[in-house]
Amino acid sequence: MDFSIDPEQRALLDSIDRMMATHLPPDEVRRRDAAHEPPDFLLKEYAKLGLLAIPIPEQYGGLGGSWMTVALANERLGYHAAMAASIFGTTLGFGGMSILTYGSEAQKRSLLPRVANGELRFALGLTEPGAGTDAGALTTRGERVAGGWKVTGRKTWISNAKTASYIVTACRTEAGSQGGRGISMLMIPPDTPGVHMTQLNKVGNNCLTSWDIAFDEAFVPEDNLLGQEGGGFRNLMSTLQFSRSGQASSATGQSQRAVDIVVAHVKERVQFGRTLSSFQSIQHRLADMQTRVDQTRLMLYRLAWLVDQGERCRKEAAQAKMLASECLQYVTDHGMQMLGSFGYSMEGDMQRLWRDSRLYTFGEGANEIQRELIAREMGL
Ligand SMILES: Cc1cc2nc3c(=O)[nH]c(=O)nc-3n(C[C@H](O)[C@H](O)[C@H](O)COP(=O)(O)OP(=O)(O)OC[C@H]3O[C@@H](n4cnc5c(N)ncnc54)[C@H](O)[C@@H]3O)c2cc1C
Repeated sequence: MDFSIDPEQRALLDSIDRMMATHLPPDEVRRRDAAHEPPDFLLKEYAKLGLLAIPIPEQYGGLGGSWMTVALANERLGYHAAMAASIFGTTLGFGGMSILTYGSEAQKRSLLPRVANGELRFALGLTEPGAGTDAGALTTRGERVAGGWKVTGRKTWISNAKTASYIVTACRTEAGSQGGRGISMLMIPPDTPGVHMTQLNKVGNNCLTSWDIAFDEAFVPEDNLLGQEGGGFRNLMSTLQFSRSGQASSATGQSQRAVDIVVAHVKERVQFGRTLSSFQSIQHRLADMQTRVDQTRLMLYRLAWLVDQGERCRKEAAQAKMLASECLQYVTDHGMQMLGSFGYSMEGDMQRLWRDSRLYTFGEGANEIQRELIAREMGL
């Protein structure tokens, strides 16, 4: 395995740094977080840099690049701000890679070039009030009617649903089916008649808007079926390596940011006549933090490498997501401690990283379930 960053990737990461310095500098991140104002305009900036085109094959308007490059870009965006990484990650994870993996040829030809040029955004509508970790308990139903389906039910905690071009919605299209069977993924534009949304409040990730959605006989045309009718769950499972890698990349970038903030602070802050960085207990804690970030990064790059080899990587995807989310929680928790009141203040960045971090260990598959999956892959 070769994890060296080539000159092209290095140039891309530098261009991300320049783009973020121009369009989303730290002050603007703080302002948008406080105002709950997502930087949706970034999608067009990503398209200008070719970021969204990286994993899309050339015949569908993309660059045919590696997943490793996607992971590096996502990690760098996470370093700048979770709000920047989530726009990138969900567009590719819920949209681009789903269409590429299980969309029809016609959908690939019509939609992927629009993903690459920053025109389309996607949300994933899976969770329901009674179906969280147990996603197979979902009850939103798609009833066959002439030319498509009528969708009735409720989804909750759906990120970016209001601003998405399509909510990729898991619906039970086979009446009476149980668990993961009989589910289809339907692409539903949020302005479809019969779709009603209410925004949800939360502790962190203020720029990742969250929505409760009621579907009241919303008509979805035949062409908006993504993947196999009744095989939606299997389709969804076939893209987990992309979404979990996205979470791990963003969390790794955010973790490194947290460590860097603490290092800068302890070198400056003087107590008892010396800098905090001169205390051995502080040094050791930071050594542990950086080691965990590096361990997480290695796991992420190994996952990206396996994706690029086309190898099975369910275990590694679960491991990367689990390690990265726990690393982020660990470093932001210790970061708050070492920054003291500076960390607790709403003026600084640590409080935001700490609040945002709380989502990652249960979002997109609770870590308990990642551990179940890893154990199963070990033959247990
Ligand atoms: C900010 C935010 C954004 C989200 N974005 C989306 C989105 O875009 N699309 C979407 O579909 N969903 C989204 N979700 C929903 C998210 O995926 C769910 O919150 C997650 O799947 C957990 O479901 P739950 O919250 O219902 O918790 P529950 O299922 O009630 O689980 C609560 C906790 O119980 C424990 N637990 C559950 N089952 C087991 C088990 N078998 N063994 C051991 N422990 C267990 C775990 O610790 C788990 O964290 C989002 C949630 C949030 C908060």
